[in-house]
Amino acid sequence: MPLGSFQDVPKDLAKEIENLEKQFTVDTAKLKEITDHFKNELEKGLSVEGGSIPMNPTWVMAFPTGHETGTYLALDMGGTNLRVCEITLTEQKSEFDIIQSKYRMPEELKTGDADELWEYIADCLHQFIETHHGDPSKLDKLPLGFTFSYPATQNYIDEGVLQRWTKGFDIDGVEGHNVVPMFEAAIARRGVPIKLSALINDTTGTLIASAYTDTKMKIGCIFGTGCNAAYMEDCGSIPKLAHMNLPPDTPMAINCEWGAFDNEHKVLPRTPYDVIIDKDSPRPGQQAFEKMIAGLYLGEIFRLVLVDLHDNHETPIFANQDISKLRKAYSLDSSFLSAIEEDPFENLSETFELFQTKLDISPNGPELELIRRTAELIGTRAARLSACGVAAISKKKGYTNCHVGADGSVFNKYPHFKARGAQALREILDWPEKKDPKEEDPIEILAAEDGSGVGAALIAALTLQRVKAGLM
Ligand code: BGC
Ligand code: MG
Repeated sequence: MPLGSFQDVPKDLAKEIENLEKQFTVDTAKLKEITDHFKNELEKGLSVEGGSIPMNPTWVMAFPTGHETGTYLALDMGGTNLRVCEITLTEQKSEFDIIQSKYRMPEELKTGDADELWEYIADCLHQFIETHHGDPSKLDKLPLGFTFSYPATQNYIDEGVLQRWTKGFDIDGVEGHNVVPMFEAAIARRGVPIKLSALINDTTGTLIASAYTDTKMKIGCIFGTGCNAAYMEDCGSIPKLAHMNLPPDTPMAINCEWGAFDNEHKVLPRTPYDVIIDKDSPRPGQQAFEKMIAGLYLGEIFRLVLVDLHDNHETPIFANQDISKLRKAYSLDSSFLSAIEEDPFENLSETFELFQTKLDISPNGPELELIRRTAELIGTRAARLSACGVAAISKKKGYTNCHVGADGSVFNKYPHFKARGAQALREILDWPEKKDPKEEDPIEILAAEDGSGVGAALIAALTLQRVKAGLM
């Protein structure tokens, strides 16, 4: 393979790399500025007037003790898959058994018709119950926690008015409506023996599931197709709930919906590529923070950079090659970037092959270096900006020593995401360098328990306990 050595990257290409570095690098001072603004916006979201971060009260009002028991179903409607789980919280403290089935979420459903969505979900549930329990018509109703990972307003734990679709979903007739009656109507039509106990967000599930096994867990995060966090607030610090006269020290899990941070474009260092992503999305003006971080967008940012460097630059990259495949929007997902960042070879031969097989493009040596550097810049920016959210919640709550439970494809699979995020936290919070690399950071972001499954079951259990105790 004719790959040039990286030492002789032509001057103009080196200039392009330098230019991208300028646009995508977020230095320590900027991280701190973003974090301070973030903290204010979290406060604003809790106020009566509100702000752009929704800060949704979830009516999850306790951490689990580890002694919860019972069998529950969980339905996880994520951005990519639909998963049905049956979780048994066993008599042993903090232990559970789980069986689960995954169903692909057909791409057409995401922009299709609401009835089709609910019918598909009811069908999957029906199939799961039939497989594991036999004839659904002969069964008593099973309690279900529904993980609906979109921003929803809740006045009760078993309702959720969809504020807006995110993650590329665009289904008419759902925004502004309570999704629970739609879901219940579909399962009644299909004859699925289920009683919905709680509607939850994946971040709240992650917070609760993580705290079930680790009491140091204070924040639950998702870095996946979308990105968001939840944490436990005191009701006394939620002015927009003051009219409910809840005791000020009562805990209330808040689903931040921090993807909406900086929708007014005051502080995030957006590039022209971020502007295009937003403009061409089904919900322009929404989810400004998420669009710079989440898995759904990372590959698309990368694609836009490369197309720009081909079309609009003095010395185009991939000169005289047919880039029609690269022109297809959203054709590269974040696993494509992961693969580039993981390429172990000095000559980037795996990246070369990836471009040939997937895009019919044969990058030369200097172009390969530009590709690798671009992927690094996009992945690093995502991890560093994510840390601002974690730092902002920690500062707001005064957490100086805790664990943060994180889940999602980007957190679990994207190379170096964890280390880059931890480094950014260190810079923002001014921690001294570690003496021993094995030493824990004061605030550690760790892989979480299965929030959308086990978390949903736990929240269903906690809810039924509150009902029994006459608290609801
Ligand atoms: C949604 C959140 C969700 C996050 C991670 C975002 O797009 O608005 O509700 O928690 O994705 O799945
Ligand atoms: Mg999920």
